[in-house]
Amino acid sequence: MAQRRNPKISGRDNSQRIDVTVKSGAGKSPFDADAFANERDGSVNIANVAVDRHVVDGHADQVALIWLGKDGDRRELTFGDLKDLSCRFASVLRDHGLAKGDSVFVLMGRVPELYACALGTLRAGMVFTPLFSAFGPEPIRTRMEIGGAKVLVTTAAIYKRKIAEWRDQITSLKLVLIVGDDAPEGCVALGPELAAASPDFAPVHTAPEDPALIHFTSGTTGKPKGALHVHNAVAYHAFSGRHALDLQPGTIFWCTADPGWVTGTSYGIIAPLVNRVTMIVDEAEFDLDRWYATVQNEKVEVWYTAPTAIRMMMRAGAEAAAAYDLSSLRFLASVGEPLNPEAVIWSEGVFGQPFHDNWWQTETGGIMIANQPGMTVKPGSMGKPMPGIVAGIVARENATLRELPDKEIGELALRPGWPSMMRTYLHEEARYQKCFVDGWYLTGDLAMRDADGYFWFIGRADDLIKTSGHLIGPFEVESALIEHEAIAEAGVIGIPDETAGEIVKAYVTLNPGFEPSEALEREVRGHARKRLGAAVAPRAILFRKSLPKTRSGKIMRRLLKARELGLPEGDISTLETDET
Ligand code: AMP
Repeated sequence: MAQRRNPKISGRDNSQRIDVTVKSGAGKSPFDADAFANERDGSVNIANVAVDRHVVDGHADQVALIWLGKDGDRRELTFGDLKDLSCRFASVLRDHGLAKGDSVFVLMGRVPELYACALGTLRAGMVFTPLFSAFGPEPIRTRMEIGGAKVLVTTAAIYKRKIAEWRDQITSLKLVLIVGDDAPEGCVALGPELAAASPDFAPVHTAPEDPALIHFTSGTTGKPKGALHVHNAVAYHAFSGRHALDLQPGTIFWCTADPGWVTGTSYGIIAPLVNRVTMIVDEAEFDLDRWYATVQNEKVEVWYTAPTAIRMMMRAGAEAAAAYDLSSLRFLASVGEPLNPEAVIWSEGVFGQPFHDNWWQTETGGIMIANQPGMTVKPGSMGKPMPGIVAGIVARENATLRELPDKEIGELALRPGWPSMMRTYLHEEARYQKCFVDGWYLTGDLAMRDADGYFWFIGRADDLIKTSGHLIGPFEVESALIEHEAIAEAGVIGIPDETAGEIVKAYVTLNPGFEPSEALEREVRGHARKRLGAAVAPRAILFRKSLPKTRSGKIMRRLLKARELGLPEGDISTLETDET
């Protein structure tokens, strides 16, 4: 069993402080952007780097993935198995006439086929595009349209419930593969196809800058954004997996994120496999006892999870953890939302070490700021920029930016240049270009850097909502709400919640002929759940006579939120309507 590290929390034991962070911007970048380029032809294919390379090096029999089914099944897949399965999946795609660059959408729970599909798609030079399986029909359809989906891999139940009705509207769609042995009409069952497909499929030649992944993320206005990432991202996944999460060959690692979100792909598939770890995949949703039992039984060494789950652990108390032997854990990390300082301190008491917070986003493709292994942890801080990553706090001044000194709050910005950075927003180059000003990439987050170079998250600079680690665009929710015949206008905000970080709340006005009532509230909430899925739909809907709007007619979500929270209303000079 791995040795526990000697964690250091600021204000406690600083006596042996080791700071592994190089000074931002100093010297040559510590990550090698050409680390995985093929010497002969310069190609980089993520599947080759994540799987085949290890098989060639003699590790075909090492367990790559331990799958825990929600009904108690346990299955081990070796690197050799992943190679075989991903070759078969790539062969299926080829046999159906699909070609390099085609986008393969995946909409299913955490089942082994998902991993075969991710690696097989990349192997075939196609673009892996995962969606969260709890999305409702509307977010799925919008994303498939934007992404020009050629293939959809899903389950029969999801297909029938959420897709069959509008499938024909996605004119790009050529193939729907259904996990299992049977498929509804117009779809193809994946099981028999995989069994019959060739297990030999050499990774397609992909240049380092060839598209590999699309991750959708929400926008404050307009449609969701498809952030495009390239094969060479793998160089940064490998580096950050090692240096932010301490992944070593053979490490037993559990990233609890779903691959429908970027964390579940970058650090739930690519970074672990590239670093030749054994990763745990749990099909089931959060269940505290199951989680502790999994850590105990599988001897998890590195655990990467999210603040919402950590807060639920805290709520269950130290006694719940004490019932299990969790001594295999040697590094704990958290991402996705602000991690409360109490949670960091609590975890040191209960697990013998703090949760190490780190920060990044869909666009950056990998961890940018982290409490790295060996670093003194300041509870409540996201840590310091990763080696080779230059982060700053800036203020916008007309068309330029001013870098702010330590301790001032401003927008968190990064100097672009690492391999896993997005290369565009699909079909929205102008929206992408707007993220870059004066040589900085603007993250949309507000933060502060202290005198020791640690970064502290303050909040979002925009209206996006983070609920249970999932980024929700208010516009998408508002659009679904106003589809209901009773709703005239909608304004959607996130309000603080002890467990989920934020919850989605909607303010609506009604069309003539409709009156506010509990029954109508329930009906509209039901409509939103059906359209958007439970993860995205508002938890509460409030009826208003009117909503605060600017003179140009934009609903002022900021003002709705200030009023909800009893905060100062700030600048309301552009306010037009104000009757609540
Ligand atoms: P996503 O693109 O869905 O991964 O969401 C990225 C956003 O989540 C960031 O821009 C932040 O607003 C938030 N976020 C991610 N990690 C952290 C963190 N460690 N602390 C606070 N907020 C975070």
